[in-house]
Amino acid sequence: MRMAVPNGMPALANIIVFLHDTNYSVSVSLKKRYAYRAYPSKGQERALARLFGSCRVVFNDVLAARSQAHEQGLPFPTSGELSKKLLTDAKRTPERAWLTEVSSVPLQQSLADADRAYRNFFDSLKKKRKGAKIGRPRFKSRRDNRQAARFTKNAGFKVEQTSHGVGFATLPKVGRVRFALSRDLPSKPSSVSVIRQADGTYQVSFVVDVAETPLPESPRVAGVDVGLTHLAHIASNDGAREVVDNPRHLRATERRLAAAQRSLSRKKKDSANRRKARLNVAKLHSTVRNTRLDHHHKLALRLVRENQTVAVEGLNVKGLARTRMAKSIHDAGWATLVTLLKEKAAQYGREIRVISQWEPTSQVCSVCGVKDGKKPLSVRVWTCGDCGTVLDRDYNAAVNIMLATGLVESLNACGPDVRRTLACATGVEARTHRTDPTLIGEDA
Ligand SMILES: [Zn+2]
Repeated sequence: MRMAVPNGMPALANIIVFLHDTNYSVSVSLKKRYAYRAYPSKGQERALARLFGSCRVVFNDVLAARSQAHEQGLPFPTSGELSKKLLTDAKRTPERAWLTEVSSVPLQQSLADADRAYRNFFDSLKKKRKGAKIGRPRFKSRRDNRQAARFTKNAGFKVEQTSHGVGFATLPKVGRVRFALSRDLPSKPSSVSVIRQADGTYQVSFVVDVAETPLPESPRVAGVDVGLTHLAHIASNDGAREVVDNPRHLRATERRLAAAQRSLSRKKKDSANRRKARLNVAKLHSTVRNTRLDHHHKLALRLVRENQTVAVEGLNVKGLARTRMAKSIHDAGWATLVTLLKEKAAQYGREIRVISQWEPTSQVCSVCGVKDGKKPLSVRVWTCGDCGTVLDRDYNAAVNIMLATGLVESLNACGPDVRRTLACATGVEARTHRTDPTLIGEDA
């Protein structure tokens, strides 16, 4: 399963996890991102603008060189050739001499990023790469909402942490940038990215190694069905089930965001009002994103703590995201949750299983196993024609997801009674909340 964030969606800036293509893979590196709000001075802001601009130019130069070679039928320039031509040699030309004014490490990183984006694109064209097709990398623009530059260890950046919640990141040719140290860094970071967000705020984001802290083994297994109207329905092999609602107020903020976006589209191009409207959209976007992320963090941590194995359904993120807004938000949320689950499972010695997206989790009765076909999303409850159980769509899916792990012998041993309690439409659950009948989209 490859994580892909659709264009225009907030990137999963706070997590670094390497996910593999196969189902049932739990290969996760224990690198973690720690991001903080940064407060550069006016002078540092100017230096950062120069740095972002230079990184952007190098990125675009790589794309131009690559597509030029492609059009002329020439072999791909190697990374080394690109580095020599676009960094070392270019700095000696009057057009690119200003590249010497910024640290060279972020430029090399930018070059590597562009190179990787192009390789991925071509591997995807040549079907060397699994998963959905990747588009040709786009040229970066000064007008892009998010600007970033990355310093690795060999750039010689420095981090200071004080006891009163203030941190400093000293970046070559930028200076000592203050940031709000909301939590301590657990170890020395291997890299730092400086980011200018769409709403004009800055962030420093460190990559650090996090030690594993395995929890004692638990016999508990949970299946999680991620939905549109609720964040998740959970069923576990000890017979407990639970519905997790989306954070309160989130819908209201999302509605305000939608209104702000409509308002922005009505504003005249290049007007002061348009700038203001764009800033408003960016701020609401970041509120929604942070609220969701916080909620996902908490749910992921709890699921990993309470269960030895957590099973979730695989979704075709890229495919679905092309449909409707509500859907794309949902898919991005699902991707975030899975990423966080994997990250936390790696840290706590637990396991995440991603069940094939083609598993017919809402077509099969989880009590007797009869498959009775697709049902429109409006059908929330139905009676199994074979065993007569009145099934709840979401819990039935959660139980099927759990059963698909093949780990739930205890549940099978208990017989269909436990499954019936878990999947039926009238049960006791941790938090009762009836489903919203106004549903968007469709699923299997
Ligand atoms: Zn049945």
